[in-house]
Amino acid sequence: MREKKPDSLFPAKNNNSEFVILNSKLIIGAEGDRSIVAKKLAGIKKENDHYCAGIRAYYKGVEGMHSQNFIELHFLEELLPGYFWIFPLPNGEANIGAGMLSSSVSSRKVNLKEDMLRAIANNPNIKDRFKNAELTGEIKGWGLPLGSKKRALSGDGFLLVGDAGSLIDPFTGEGIGNAMYSGMMAADHIKEAVEQNRFDAAFLKNYEEQFYTRQWDELKLSHTMQKLCKYPWLFNFVVNKAHKNKALRETISCMFEDLDLRAKLRNPLFYLRLLMND
Ligand SMILES: Cc1cc2nc3c(=O)[nH]c(=O)nc-3n(C[C@H](O)[C@H](O)[C@H](O)COP(=O)(O)OP(=O)(O)OC[C@H]3O[C@@H](n4cnc5c(N)ncnc54)[C@H](O)[C@@H]3O)c2cc1C
Repeated sequence: MREKKPDSLFPAKNNNSEFVILNSKLIIGAEGDRSIVAKKLAGIKKENDHYCAGIRAYYKGVEGMHSQNFIELHFLEELLPGYFWIFPLPNGEANIGAGMLSSSVSSRKVNLKEDMLRAIANNPNIKDRFKNAELTGEIKGWGLPLGSKKRALSGDGFLLVGDAGSLIDPFTGEGIGNAMYSGMMAADHIKEAVEQNRFDAAFLKNYEEQFYTRQWDELKLSHTMQKLCKYPWLFNFVVNKAHKNKALRETISCMFEDLDLRAKLRNPLFYLRLLMND
């Protein structure tokens, strides 16, 4: 006889494969990109303009990595608006990958895996570094839910943290920092919720507001930078100037860390000054 699935949003099975119903005053959606809590309780849906496709591969024998193991982000024309990365690993291995906004993947009918392999084989800027390199294992793909749009991170009896709440930086594709940060912030709010026995939407909204008060400016700025990559001529112009000018080069490197500097990229005067100065 087939066991009947219980009428529950989150039917779960125990170790004996029997359906069980767990009751709780609060559930934390922390299950990453495919969060059931985000989908069923917060109504979060995948939106291609705020979602990135990512693939990663492991290689050994990639040449020319920095002696101090700096990570490399390459904005290759065939992978714009997105980037190709080389992250050095121990024992001469490297994590190689590429990410691109899902709306671009679908509008241009991109096959990210094929395009990345083609770039590795043919792109004049990287192909020589891969001439003796060997792919180890499979190339795997996963989605990156971007924080370029505010989402409901809380509601009656639930909170969302990390990728479940779509909190990845839309420019760099980094999500670990915001996942940890939102987790820490959620922990403080959960403590208060338990102390005050308040699990209603109005009380839990404080978490969402606090998170966005702290992080929204940064996410918004990164969204602006992501959009800049859609204009390769502008991107090339800035990078070429930076190539010739050490101070500008350092400024741009610091923009990844320093939000006030990053804000300059939104100001047309920044580009005018670049145009005027060699
Ligand atoms: C190809 C690629 C490269 C990336 N590179 C970087 C990078 O260089 N730097 C960076 O900062 N970020 C990077 N990211 C993003 C980063 O991986 C995520 O933002 C981060 O892992 C989010 O953490 P999380 O804990 O929210 O989710 P996850 O790391 O996805 O963890 C969720 C966990 O929940 C578990 N789970 C799922 N469903 C259930 C369930 N029903 N019950 C119980 N457990 C469940 C999963 O198995 C998983 O262990 C990359 C992402 C991709 C796809």
